[in-house]
Amino acid sequence: MQKPGKTSKPVAAPLENPMIASDRVPANACGEPLTEDQIWQLLEEVKDPEVPAVSVVELGVVRKLSWQGEQLVVDVTPTYSGCPATDLIEELIAAALMQGGIRDPQIKRVLTPAWTTDWITPVGREKLRQFGIAPPQGSASKMTLLGHDQQITCPLCGSSHTEQVSEFGSTACKALYRCTDCLEPFDYFKCI
Ligand SMILES: [Zn+2]
Repeated sequence: MQKPGKTSKPVAAPLENPMIASDRVPANACGEPLTEDQIWQLLEEVKDPEVPAVSVVELGVVRKLSWQGEQLVVDVTPTYSGCPATDLIEELIAAALMQGGIRDPQIKRVLTPAWTTDWITPVGREKLRQFGIAPPQGSASKMTLLGHDQQITCPLCGSSHTEQVSEFGSTACKALYRCTDCLEPFDYFKCI
């Protein structure tokens, strides 16, 4: 029996079983929940199928991580519509996340704003250059402004004496250039 005038204390919610909780949250090998940084690290392991030197993060196609309840949602923007690697990139991202312990990640294709080469990170640009692909120079908007008169630097010898051989290189996203100094052909990642 309660004494009159006294209100009963609300019953404290039972402590959540940490075992159950950790079972529901994506966890690393030690059973600790993955931090957002660790998820980005998993994504760093996913390489662009066309240019394995750069990751999808360096390429700038992974836009955002968010949670919908307990499901991880990854916003992915294809490099350009019609790029045949898009489906493969999304599959590789989902596979890497699941391998990292994330259950049933949702890959959301986000088409706006459209990807531009501006989204390639500085590290990604450097890796492209080391891979023998001239990274995009200047910003996409500047490219439109300046037209195609911009000089592309040879990734092999650094010479600015280069000429476009073909509008399309090894893939449609790249143009084929040739250096008139070292005479080597190279791919140029087009500004789009
Ligand atoms: Zn050269």
